[in-house]
Amino acid sequence: MNHSPITYIEPLFRPPSEARSLIFQVTNGCSWNKCTYCDMYTQPQKKFSLKPDTDVEAEIVWAGQYLQEVRRVFLADGDAMSLSTRRLLRILELIRQHLPNVSRVSSYCSSFNLHNKSVEELKTLHEAGLKLIYMGAESGDDFVLKSIQKGDTFDGTVEALNRLRDAGIQRSVMIINGVGGKHYSEQHALNSARLANATQPEFLSSLVINHPHGQDRFRAGYAEQGGIYEHMDQHARFQELRTFVGALALEKTIFRSDHASNQLVLKGTLGKDKEALLAQIDTAIAAPDQAGLRPVWIRPF
Ligand code: SF4
Repeated sequence: MNHSPITYIEPLFRPPSEARSLIFQVTNGCSWNKCTYCDMYTQPQKKFSLKPDTDVEAEIVWAGQYLQEVRRVFLADGDAMSLSTRRLLRILELIRQHLPNVSRVSSYCSSFNLHNKSVEELKTLHEAGLKLIYMGAESGDDFVLKSIQKGDTFDGTVEALNRLRDAGIQRSVMIINGVGGKHYSEQHALNSARLANATQPEFLSSLVINHPHGQDRFRAGYAEQGGIYEHMDQHARFQELRTFVGALALEKTIFRSDHASNQLVLKGTLGKDKEALLAQIDTAIAAPDQAGLRPVWIRPF
């Protein structure tokens, strides 16, 4: 086998469900890189850049020669959808040409990256192979979104998710449990449920806020908006999760809270499993030692 031209600038992140996917790092870092809770791309080598077209092409051509068994491809890093539609189409066409067994190409995407992409453009991307977008909405509450410097609003996020739906692209939406802290917990939970209800994503997951590098930047974001961030304990986060799940009115969404940050693992399809999920959360609130929680030592945070 010839030496692989596929290169990565570490660290490289991908969703848990892309563990078996071939990753092409078509961009490095994140074009936004301002969210106060995110430390994914803060190292100097992760400054946002695009991988040159010729390098991307060489990687895909090589993969076509040696990795024909690949079924899924993930385009990294944080927001590959910041690439122009023309550039994305070229990448998708190369994948289709050289890796014909690939049935799904997916990517992370910030909602604001879709503000300049029409449904028609997204349809062409879908037809070229883009099947799934992972979007960290994080919250549906505008005050929380502003405080964490997410770069979008409830309305903007709903618009982006509904454009994807209209283009036939599946949506996997993430919400962060605890991101509003004690003061904004209820509005965060209710407005996040409102966002999910308005967009009916195919997949919805709940992660847990963590601050591996401290809370200073995070607190400052709230302070700039005249707010206060007060970290929630596990009990309070379970109560918030109950408010969130209780307010969901979803028709057919696969719900998961199985990210490494979650101590309470939930899996089900909403709406049919709503009562069962609520019962699990109720147990975690009332009797956490009987709720089958993951031990703290499993969590990497
Ligand atoms: S848009 Fe995503 S990758 Fe970029 S800073 Fe925010 S959370 Fe991090």
